[in-house]
Amino acid sequence: MEKKQFQAESRRLLDMMINSIYTHQEIFLRELISNASDAIDKLCFLSLTDDKVGMDRSDFFIRLTADKEKNTLTVSDNGIGMTAEEMENNLGVIAKSGTQAFKAGLDAAEKEKADIDIIGQFGVGFYSAFMVASRVTVISRAYGQEKASRWESEGADGYTIQECDRDGVGTDVILQLKPDTEDDCYSVYAASWKLQELVKKYSDYVRWPIRMDVETTEKVDTGEVDEAGIPKMTWKTVSKEEVVNSMVPIWQRSKKEATDADCIAFYKEKFRDSEDPVAVIRVNAEGAVSYRCLLFVPAQAPYDYYTRDYAPGLRLYSNGVMIMEKCPDLLPECFRFVRGIVDSPDLSLNISREMLQHDRQLKMIANNLEKKIKAELSRLMETDREKYEKFYAAFGVQLKYGIVGDYGMKRDLLTDLLLYWSADREKMISLKEYVSAMPESQKFIYYASAETVERAARLPQTEQVRAHGYDILCFASDADEFVAEILMQYDGKKFCNVVSQDLGLDTDEEKAEAEKAGEANRALLDYVKEQIGDAVESVKVSRKLKNYPVCLSSEGEITLEMERYFHSLPGTDPNAMRARRVLELNLDHPAVKALDAARSEDPERAAVMAKVLLSQAELVAGIPPKDPAAYSELVCSLF
Ligand code: ADP
Repeated sequence: MEKKQFQAESRRLLDMMINSIYTHQEIFLRELISNASDAIDKLCFLSLTDDKVGMDRSDFFIRLTADKEKNTLTVSDNGIGMTAEEMENNLGVIAKSGTQAFKAGLDAAEKEKADIDIIGQFGVGFYSAFMVASRVTVISRAYGQEKASRWESEGADGYTIQECDRDGVGTDVILQLKPDTEDDCYSVYAASWKLQELVKKYSDYVRWPIRMDVETTEKVDTGEVDEAGIPKMTWKTVSKEEVVNSMVPIWQRSKKEATDADCIAFYKEKFRDSEDPVAVIRVNAEGAVSYRCLLFVPAQAPYDYYTRDYAPGLRLYSNGVMIMEKCPDLLPECFRFVRGIVDSPDLSLNISREMLQHDRQLKMIANNLEKKIKAELSRLMETDREKYEKFYAAFGVQLKYGIVGDYGMKRDLLTDLLLYWSADREKMISLKEYVSAMPESQKFIYYASAETVERAARLPQTEQVRAHGYDILCFASDADEFVAEILMQYDGKKFCNVVSQDLGLDTDEEKAEAEKAGEANRALLDYVKEQIGDAVESVKVSRKLKNYPVCLSSEGEITLEMERYFHSLPGTDPNAMRARRVLELNLDHPAVKALDAARSEDPERAAVMAKVLLSQAELVAGIPPKDPAAYSELVCSLF
């Protein structure tokens, strides 16, 4: 029979599984049961709208069959099944994960021999069977098909698919367990006590019955009687089919029955995250719409979070039947990182995707969840700043997008969740914390923007603000300045960029004085402007600078940081969206004094000095010289 090859990545993953040093081999059972449960969910959902399925909710089950003699374990379900083509697509390749990120993940895992994260992060469920099995056979008959297919593989050298028969729709996954070795015991997975233990440990909450033969000892009649005529009894081991899971989903349990630790374990398995979530949110609402939900705020962004591939949404159940795997309408865009489950008996089961969108009850749930998530994040910010900062590092940008997006509709919801780097305190602070620490005399919320917060904190323009003892928020994300524009103010205090012309720090007298200084030095300013030409809009006397000779500022709406952002976007006209640059001179600085003196003493040198000072201002603003060699020559010509 023709042997088909696995896709390259699948092969590598299989190799990893086969040679796995993964200590939790036993999770393979959880993975297979989870797949079986999903397959039943799908057929059950279909049966609600399609009478042809001919199944009742109570007909569905998962069955574990162990054969000690043959050293095999079979996981069966009567779910939706797979066609030969689906087997090829689902089992022969890592369909969903064939991305660059996944390949990179594999490389990293191989290097570090850290297979745990890989297993956690990238839906490798089915492949985990190869940790314990030397051969895996899948026999599956898809709903609506007469024939079944048999997929078989002994690992990395490929797999075969052929047609076969199966009674009824569903899937059997048959594991030929590996032979026991000195270190590893695989035959234990064919022992009913072990299987029972594993089901209890990992799959107890699965909503479909997991049946298996359980061995128990029973008193049985021997058929004989003793001298007194009393029937003789004896103990005998009998095997009986039982349901071995409690079937109560974790979100239907009380806090006592399902601890936070249980929920976290459930989250990591269900949502394939290797890290604990930063928050677990449970809601049990009764009223106009009753529902229970179990939500999680992840600590890290999934590898595809900031791409189009990421599909947000919560799992939606009605009375224990899953009606949608990812229902995005339950979450506002700004909280799209939240994962979890919503179960409501009040939702009609026959709703289609389109109808759901307009469902009034769904909207009510969504509104309530938005409030709960906000409340939980605020609480986390207050009570566990370290955890909150971890969350913020992963999803802060999402919150900022949330403020800028939807025409600022979510502004009030999100503003107090923002954190900024404080130049003064050298840590992240909220706007509330900034404003409450403002001295009486301070009118504005000052911010500085650069590629990194460290650079922002060191911008020359911050000097005057700092000299007044005012703190500065350091912006280093593309979104920050746009957020400040949308917000405009916080608690009645307007935002003010330290590079703006008027920082609101000067008294009327000081302003008049600056104007006078400008007039008195008009010749110097005109001279510098003449030397540097169109590189800047104008040259002015600065009042912001203390230790720096020059700085570059901007006039008008577009700042240098915004210009940088716009020009990083593909397709921006190079001449559009330009900041109107202003070169500011510190008249008290020796370099500027030297330039002024050189104008009459050594005009040639003065012209070079003007250009060098412009370059200094540009460099500090994070704008590299266009021609580094020419720049170097220019500086050296001063010696
Ligand atoms: P995941 O469960 O993360 O999608 P798996 O490798 O475990 O990844 O499974 C791949 C796919 O194979 C599943 O998404 C499903 O489509 C299909 N599949 C696996 N097991 C079954 C099953 N018992 N019945 C039907 N389909 C299955």
